Amino acid sequence: MLDLNILSDQTVDVPSGPYQAQHFIDGAFTDSADGRTSDRVSPSHGIVVSQAALGSATEADRAIKSARVAFDDERWSGLSAKDRAVVLNKVADLIEENQERLAVLETLESGKPISQSRGECGGAADLWRYAASLARTAHGDSHNTLGEDILGVVVKEPIGVVSIITPWNFPFWILSQKLPFALAAGCTCVVKPSEVTPSTTAMLGEMLSEAGLPAGVCNIVLGYGDPVGSLMSTHPEVDMVTFTGSTAVGKMITKSAGDTLKKVALELGGKNPQVIFPDANLEDAADAVTFGIYFNVGQCCNSSSRIIVHEDIADDFVERVVKLSRKVVFGNPMHPDTQVGAIVTEDHKTKIDGYVKEAVEAGAEVCLGGEVLDVPGLGDQFYQPTIVRGVTADMAIVREEVFGPVLTVLTFRDFDEAVELANDSPYGLSAGVWSENVHTCLAFGRKAQAGTVWTNTWMDGFPELAFGGMKESGQGREIGRYGFEEFLEVKSMVMRIGRTREPWVNTN
Ligand code: NAD
Repeated sequence: MLDLNILSDQTVDVPSGPYQAQHFIDGAFTDSADGRTSDRVSPSHGIVVSQAALGSATEADRAIKSARVAFDDERWSGLSAKDRAVVLNKVADLIEENQERLAVLETLESGKPISQSRGECGGAADLWRYAASLARTAHGDSHNTLGEDILGVVVKEPIGVVSIITPWNFPFWILSQKLPFALAAGCTCVVKPSEVTPSTTAMLGEMLSEAGLPAGVCNIVLGYGDPVGSLMSTHPEVDMVTFTGSTAVGKMITKSAGDTLKKVALELGGKNPQVIFPDANLEDAADAVTFGIYFNVGQCCNSSSRIIVHEDIADDFVERVVKLSRKVVFGNPMHPDTQVGAIVTEDHKTKIDGYVKEAVEAGAEVCLGGEVLDVPGLGDQFYQPTIVRGVTADMAIVREEVFGPVLTVLTFRDFDEAVELANDSPYGLSAGVWSENVHTCLAFGRKAQAGTVWTNTWMDGFPELAFGGMKESGQGREIGRYGFEEFLEVKSMVMRIGRTREPWVNTN
């Protein structure tokens, strides 16, 4: 049972015991054939908050076969887009009705603040509605200029069975960046959430069922990357894999999916720069930098973990960010005022601390934080807001994803150096520029090697705008029209008008 005393100072309505998460296969909720389960201990409260079925290749195989049959008999793709949209809109309504229940589990499993979970879980409904609206826009081209006896049409079709593999940092949001778009296109799916945060994905199964999604169209299998995710990336009956997670696993998936030439879409890591020019509105920029590094405790692909600031304003700017950082509310994720919660696992906290200690040994200076944070009554699976200066572009803390509340500061002298430092990364997910001069912003936007460039803002996102990365941040795009198109196959149909075709074989 959850120890309610730990949460007793809260207004949040917590469940009376751990959530029991089951697989959702062929329209039915089920445990694993071998009965195995795994417990998720809340990173912030140290108590078991969910018990999830632990899938094996048996469940993954059943789910994939169910999705294959459901695709091939056209029970979903054969519906009109209008009818598919009705179901997706119903799911959106149910997500809103269940927002609080989803948010509480999301927070207990991930450690993120309850206000953020509410925003992500409730806000996900808009992604479902937007995908529903796109369902009815899928169309190809017609070619009426190929000669008087030929009409050519290019039609769009759903790509088939899609494996959807998601990470722990935005479990419900990232699921909703993928699944409704695949369903809108007419695909059938097998979904695997992270083993660390399975519950809100399992809950979605209830909503899909209630909304009337036909059995087998979306199957959910809980479990580890190996064997569940690996089978989802290699099974011959899967047509596409869409994956969000680490670059290392993304590369593995690309290799293993290559044997059957599946389409692979990847949303991977980032080491995203924000460049601050001397003419920027420093107050706004400092606030956005503070938000960009501490949001989700920095466990965010879009974390702006590298700032590149003009040397003339560097001291002033860092001081501003330090001041703001001290005001950010770190602590109990269940408290409505908390802005930054717990680190997802003990191991991950150790890894974050390791990056900071290594940088210090190499000569970097910690201007703020740099240590584990002990939250009274909740223990020490938290990390202090941390700012590190005196780094060089070749240090691991500057080049690799720290995935924690750790900001590094580099300086530049002129525009070219700023661009060079910003692009000096194996990643290319997002970048930001701060200047009151529109020409500086536009020039930077054109040069930045990133899938998204924010100018005078950070992390504003909209379902209409494609999201994805360049270089080792991924391939393909998600959300928006481009994201929807990823789930569509292109077929050309060539039609002769009249019996005008010249025989090839001479029968005389
Ligand atoms: P991860 O790569 O460890 O795991 C992601 C998912 O892959 C999990 O469901 C996991 O079980 C599964 N998996 C693990 N091994 C697998 C295998 N061999 N085959 C198939 N599936 C396997 O990532 P994580 O630690 O959960 O998430 C953090 C990472 O995700 C960070 O690198 C972050 O940048 C990235 N991320 C990227 C975006 C984006 O949109 N670009 C968004 C969020 C997170």
